Amino acid sequence: MSYKLSERSLSRLVGLHPALSFAVTEAIRVTPVDFGVIEGVRTIERQRELVETGKSKTLDSYHLYGLAVDLVPYIDGRYRWDDDTAFSAVAGAMKQVIDTHGLKIDWGWELWQWDKPHWQMTGMKTVYDVRRLEAAV
Ligand SMILES: [Zn+2]
Repeated sequence: MSYKLSERSLSRLVGLHPALSFAVTEAIRVTPVDFGVIEGVRTIERQRELVETGKSKTLDSYHLYGLAVDLVPYIDGRYRWDDDTAFSAVAGAMKQVIDTHGLKIDWGWELWQWDKPHWQMTGMKTVYDVRRLEAAV
């Protein structure tokens, strides 16, 4: 069984760092469990909303830079936010792709022991910060 990203999931890859969207489009080909892309690039307004409702812990999220993506298992027509086994299966697919292609992408669960949907390009934000500051001068 091989899965495909829905149009909705594909639309949520727009604006992401190419290595991150590549990892997701490769992972869907090898995952044993279907998944959907819940969120990619975020606006600062959206980020504020998530912090205020306790769903995020930072206003300087990697999502703002196109350096993070959230993936959730999708089984029998429903997202499975509480299915740890399914999350592990999706993570296995992502890691397979990350290892095969030598990508620098980390899993939220391994960074913080929470946030299983979250994958990010740790460290890359520094580069983007510098560019943003340069552009502002
Ligand atoms: Zn996230």
